[in-house]
Amino acid sequence: MILILQADTDKNGDDFRQLMDHLSSMKNIKSRLHDEVGTRQTLTEVYLVGDTATLVIEDMENLPCVERVVRVSEEYRVLGRHHDDNRPTHFEYNGVRFGQDNLNVFAGLCAVDNPRHVELMMKALQERGLPCTRMGAYKPRTNPYSFQGHGKSCLPYVFELAGKYDIKVIAMEVTHDSHVREIHEALEETGHPTGVMLQIGTRNTQNFELLKVIGREPEFPVLLKRGFGITLEESLNAAEYLASEGNRRVVFGLRGMKTNMGDPHRNFVDFSHVPVVKRLTRMPVCIDPSHSVGTRDVAPSGILDVFHVTAQGVIAGANMILVDFHPHPAKALVDCPQALHMDELDYFLEDVRIAREAYEQRVALAAEHRKQQASAA
Ligand code: PEP
Ligand code: MN
Repeated sequence: MILILQADTDKNGDDFRQLMDHLSSMKNIKSRLHDEVGTRQTLTEVYLVGDTATLVIEDMENLPCVERVVRVSEEYRVLGRHHDDNRPTHFEYNGVRFGQDNLNVFAGLCAVDNPRHVELMMKALQERGLPCTRMGAYKPRTNPYSFQGHGKSCLPYVFELAGKYDIKVIAMEVTHDSHVREIHEALEETGHPTGVMLQIGTRNTQNFELLKVIGREPEFPVLLKRGFGITLEESLNAAEYLASEGNRRVVFGLRGMKTNMGDPHRNFVDFSHVPVVKRLTRMPVCIDPSHSVGTRDVAPSGILDVFHVTAQGVIAGANMILVDFHPHPAKALVDCPQALHMDELDYFLEDVRIAREAYEQRVALAAEHRKQQASAA
């Protein structure tokens, strides 16, 4: 059960103390506080865990400071959508909104290779008014002899260039808590010219110790990729690990499921699960067409498979697109076969715009249909 307290509840006030005294007197029930600090107000939620089945919602609503009560009947206590749950489905970070109702494109390098390529990419994004990108510094590779990413040595120039080109959020994979520390330090050194969304890759979806550390991270939001060989429920529970430790600024990433390599895509594209994740949870949903498809194969229509699956995700309501681009794909050190070319960026964005517009039209059509049904009833 979640007690949502009145905005800006004073934690030193008598009412709050009375509430907490009452809760701590309840047998077999533990409570845990979570503060959601917004620009205008702070919302406090109290999570009650244990024997809550016998508690009556109306009684709890009459306790001091309590504005609303949500009974958590299903899984994903913090990030899930529950009955009568109108908690937010969005968050803001460094001036960028991430929500189940909007769409951000994170086009960028799979792996940072040199400052020139980073700069060409960021300049192209700025020219198109795009404030987000992807830049891999720590690359988990299948083969121990493959390029592992430049790691912390590239962070200062990546962050400085981001500042130069108005990039507000960089999605960057981390595989160890030391990487989070290095990112903090590099941002500090360079004067915080940009923001970072920590990415947890598909190989680490169930790295519970990493999830707990990043869950306690107060600054950065997280993009958690679905595990490529586990159930959706297991991956959503992994996201809940982050939230249960306090970090609920989580975007859930679909990136395809493992099949036999080249069968015909690198992974079996799972973007039909975009609306499923939005129904089960309050997380914005990201799609990664590059790591799903893994090739530049073209359909007879003349459209690349990467474009096709992007459109499929967007027309189903995706909220973020993580996509590999490279100024010189032949020189890319990681995943060159799937990278889109810079001269495809405008074409890609226009294709995305068409799919997003179609999604919005479909939402309006569904609303119209429901209205007609209601008036006929
Ligand atoms: C990536 O986005 O660079 C990546 C390695 O993705 P995934 O974890 O989905 O394979
Ligand atoms: Mn990659």
